[in-house]
Amino acid sequence: MRDTYTHKGLRSKLVTTLRQKGIKNERILSAFMNIPRHLFLDNAFAKWAYTDVAFPIDADQTISQPYTVAFQTSLLELKGTERVLEIGTGSGFQSCVLSYLGVKVYTIERQEKLYHRTEKLLNQLGFGRIRTLLGDGYKGSPRFANFDRILVTCGAPFVPQDLLDQLNIGGMLVIPLGEGECQRMIRITKHAGDRYEKEDFGEFRFVPFLQGINRVSI
Ligand code: SAH
Repeated sequence: MRDTYTHKGLRSKLVTTLRQKGIKNERILSAFMNIPRHLFLDNAFAKWAYTDVAFPIDADQTISQPYTVAFQTSLLELKGTERVLEIGTGSGFQSCVLSYLGVKVYTIERQEKLYHRTEKLLNQLGFGRIRTLLGDGYKGSPRFANFDRILVTCGAPFVPQDLLDQLNIGGMLVIPLGEGECQRMIRITKHAGDRYEKEDFGEFRFVPFLQGINRVSI
């Protein structure tokens, strides 16, 4: 678990790339400057950690592309006081970006193996305040609801009603919507129990939002 000056230099270049691609929020850029992304990847891929691409992690899943993480985070328009639910813990990198911004993070993963691995990593990196949950993201987290923001980091075939129900009034759900290879990045703002505003922020690619939990077989 080493973080060197070389890694810091690479992070600084990544931040420049993110700026050039249109990320303006300084707090988000600061999260990318300070969180050692290479530690979230398998050793074989560590040297690519600071290029702006998505990478395989464990259990056939990916760590989202840095630009996608930064863009989704900026859509949440966080002040730093919110309660945020993330669907798709994966590597844990996105959770750390959110936590770095000061919000209370709850994150759900359906792959048991990944859930255990990432929980351990977050503790090692000093992000133990992130609450990791093993479960089916389609159901959200009735135990910790309601949330001010919900961020889905896998491609959803439809908007799960449970997630809309677990949003506070004034809250936002950011969700990549669409079956198949490509999704539209959609932001839904809940103005009242039955009044929602929907905005479209263009095309992205995610691994699929799957139903149910994948437990480790013993
Ligand atoms: N936020 C992650 C991106 C991971 S890729 C990161 O920063 O690395 C999306 C993740 O969503 C995968 O780990 C996948 O297992 C998970 N996922 C898919 N369907 C899910 C579901 N129903 N509930 C919870 N997690 C799910």
